Amino acid sequence: MALPSKRHSKTVKRIRRAAIKMKTPALSTCPQCKKMVRPHTACAFCGTYRGRQVLKIKLTKKEKKLRKKEEKEKKEK
Ligand SMILES: [Zn+2]
Repeated sequence: MALPSKRHSKTVKRIRRAAIKMKTPALSTCPQCKKMVRPHTACAFCGTYRGRQVLKIKLTKKEKKLRKKEEKEKKEK
């Protein structure tokens, strides 16, 4: 089995690990509800994909109230 010929110093290890970081996910906007969605996936908020309804979204009472408010605000705009 291959072995490293030299031990990496603490500095080298720290420099390497400093470059490891979380990436921001690529996001696009849902054409239906204008929320941020991961590309090539169904919208978790309205359940549509490429203009078609593909998911049934079950809402709690709180979520229903929130969505009604948002729809009202959209209509006023
Ligand atoms: Zn949506």
